[in-house]
Amino acid sequence: MNTNEQCSCVKGTASVPQEELIDIIVKSVHAVLQSEPHRESSNRESSQQSFRIPLGISNRHIHLTSKTFHQLFGDKAEFESMRPLYQPGEFASIHTLTIVGPKLRSIPGVRILGPLRNYDQVEVSLTDAIFLGIDPPVTNSGNLKEAAPLTLVGPNGSVYLEKCAIVANRHLHMTTADAARLGVKEGDYCMVRIGGEKPTVFENVLIRTNDNWKIQIHLDTDDANAANVRVETFVEFLGRSGNRI
Ligand SMILES: [Zn+2]
Repeated sequence: MNTNEQCSCVKGTASVPQEELIDIIVKSVHAVLQSEPHRESSNRESSQQSFRIPLGISNRHIHLTSKTFHQLFGDKAEFESMRPLYQPGEFASIHTLTIVGPKLRSIPGVRILGPLRNYDQVEVSLTDAIFLGIDPPVTNSGNLKEAAPLTLVGPNGSVYLEKCAIVANRHLHMTTADAARLGVKEGDYCMVRIGGEKPTVFENVLIRTNDNWKIQIHLDTDDANAANVRVETFVEFLGRSGNRI
């Protein structure tokens, strides 16, 4: 490109005052950015980005009712946040428990997530379940019909919960607007892919919608380890996968 071409958008401005010249240049640049080819490419970029979804790796954790919390930590204990989690309103509490399976094998330091709920639930990986000697179902959070038993041990005592342990299914949090944009709805299943050294496609990822949520996929540590990811990265959304396979 020669000098004349570079200056073509502001030609004939030799005698214009500097402030006016800057104004002309700004308007020229703005006009170029608004032109059709630029708009198309920026839309294309944003739609590509929308198919990359942040990954959250869920380590084993506990949800408790207020009643069970107080049984384990004492009547006067206050449920306290340590740090907020990615989803608005949710937090890691300062409180941890030891979980004990029927073979008396135990895992200490399992964190309770807040806020407190109206059910007691322990989410473990299959590796944890094998170590503890339990056979929990792969299911949705809150579905405890087939859940496995564990004993929870805290500073104020222990509680045996006959149906509390599950392996949480793979799931994808999003708003209803995100779901519409991606062509899915609450209860659908989708596929996602993680790249890197051990690229992996995950199926049966449940779509869960709530307008308070930020878009994020939750995989447990077994799934994340299988794909060789240890830090929170992005996954590629591959679309709906019909009914659960
Ligand atoms: Zn989740």
